[in-house]
Amino acid sequence: MSSTTETIPTYDVVVIGAGFAGIYLVHKLRDDLGLDVKVFERGGGIGGTWYWNRYPGARCDFESDYYSFSFNDEIQQEWDWTERYAPQPEILRYANYVADKLDVRGNIELNTTVTRAVFDEASDTWTVSTDTGVSARARYLISATGILSVPSTPKFADMDSFKGEIYHTGDWPHEGVDFTGKRVGVIGTGSSAIQSIPLMAEQADQLTVFQRTATFTVPAANRPITENERKATKRSYKQLREQARRAGTGVLVDQPVGAFGEVEERIVRGELERRWRGTGFGTTSVLSDNLRSIEANNYTSQFVRDKINEIVDDPAVAKLLEPHDYPIGTKRLALDTNYYDTYNRENVKLVSVRDTPIERFSPAGIVVGDTEYEFDAIVLATGFDAATGALERIQFEGVDGRTLTDAWAEGAKSYLGLAVEGFPNFFTVTGPGCPAILTNVIASIEHHVEWIADYITYMRAEGITRFEATPDAQAEWVKHVADMAAMTLYPTAASWYMGANVPGKPRVFLAYIGGLHNYRDRCDQLAADGYVGFAHASDGAPLKSEQLTVGA
Ligand code: NAP
Repeated sequence: MSSTTETIPTYDVVVIGAGFAGIYLVHKLRDDLGLDVKVFERGGGIGGTWYWNRYPGARCDFESDYYSFSFNDEIQQEWDWTERYAPQPEILRYANYVADKLDVRGNIELNTTVTRAVFDEASDTWTVSTDTGVSARARYLISATGILSVPSTPKFADMDSFKGEIYHTGDWPHEGVDFTGKRVGVIGTGSSAIQSIPLMAEQADQLTVFQRTATFTVPAANRPITENERKATKRSYKQLREQARRAGTGVLVDQPVGAFGEVEERIVRGELERRWRGTGFGTTSVLSDNLRSIEANNYTSQFVRDKINEIVDDPAVAKLLEPHDYPIGTKRLALDTNYYDTYNRENVKLVSVRDTPIERFSPAGIVVGDTEYEFDAIVLATGFDAATGALERIQFEGVDGRTLTDAWAEGAKSYLGLAVEGFPNFFTVTGPGCPAILTNVIASIEHHVEWIADYITYMRAEGITRFEATPDAQAEWVKHVADMAAMTLYPTAASWYMGANVPGKPRVFLAYIGGLHNYRDRCDQLAADGYVGFAHASDGAPLKSEQLTVGA
């Protein structure tokens, strides 16, 4: 019988995903640690979320001065943000600028989806397979697949029968879409819908929004950044970044005025009014107990509901737009530009599908109850299979061939959101159970990349070839994350934070709510104590940096 020989390129590290995390990982591990790094990226370009989410109005809702890399002063001094909240094309340009500046493109293979990754216990290495047939082997495998990277499309009956175009906000055509003269239906009223509806309404002939749950949104107060402001920010970046590092959300926010009932209402009201005019997320942190006390939360929620009634002309439409299904802040707060005003337009209609759900699609449009709504195009703004979706689409096989999907059958379990028991030498950047979801994600990415780099440095110095989260450490962390969430109102909402937006997904709160600053301290401390919670072994075969020949 003849034998075949397959050569698999071998690296120190394989990274999955070339968004901001993948870009920084290449730079950090290659340039600071001298490692051989290979990145596989599903998209035809780098930038992750900002590569795919090109819907009208897509922009960041963390301020650009913070939603940007802090690790390289040359980059932050050279790059000019033009708006307080940068639009998607500008953020994508920034990602490409950083990639060129750090010269990382040569390490990235585009249009390549990782399909499977298998851990080999004899050598302490991962072998990664892709849809293009390219494989790779590495000591360390790092997922940088993003939190919101797998669009979620509900299975509406007869969807294929619709004769018009169907778009998903999370997978928008690169050439853009012209809705001029079109009748457009939008399903969903989360952040993506809230950003895109005002712009689509300006273009379309008619826009019909199908709303299941009304969402709390507050004005973004977006505006151009002046030259003087830009210069001032650049001068003070050092302090700004340092303060952001010590903040719970990775950005500076206005402090609460106090707890509900302990501060004069006049002061609370005044501060809510001030923040409504321009501090974005600050609206939900006027009261220090907004996410712990339902009375406090009701006060803030009612403030926003009153605003909706002030803005929207038709009282019946305003009533439908009032969120009543969850406490404000327990589902992701949206920031908008003219969202509620858009419902005053003649060409915009709001249809509640809360009590009568969408029954089916038809060749002409969407059927709800006895009514068929006719469209030329339908936009699905229906969100993502968050935090775990991208990972569970890859067949990870850890110790004894156990898959990640099996390990997470009852909900995602992770140590620190960085590592999973049973999956040695595998790091998850911004994985489930870390604070990333509730923070400026670039701050979380920077922390994870730097922490991982330090850990790899430690293991190489100690001759360690294998690390793995211990069952006890993981169980304790999972419990801690759940206990922290249970002390708040978060679990009362059917949010994507809980996995509740995807039918059948186990409900587990996917974020550590203790704040990035506390999390950072904890990660630093356990590292200083010798990487507490991780088991180590040193008997893996030395990793060759040249080509490895396998098969016979
Ligand atoms: P989302 O917040 O999950 O919203 C999805 C929407 O689709 C919800 O209104 C949901 O209703 C609706 N929906 C889902 N299935 C439905 C069905 N079968 N029938 C009717 N309605 C249905 O998704 P997203 O707006 O894409 O935002 C996801 C996250 O991405 C945000 O929370 C945010 O973290 C991030 N994001 C950030 C930005 C930014 O930084 N600027 C912009 C966009 C998105 P229910 O609420 O009833 O489930």
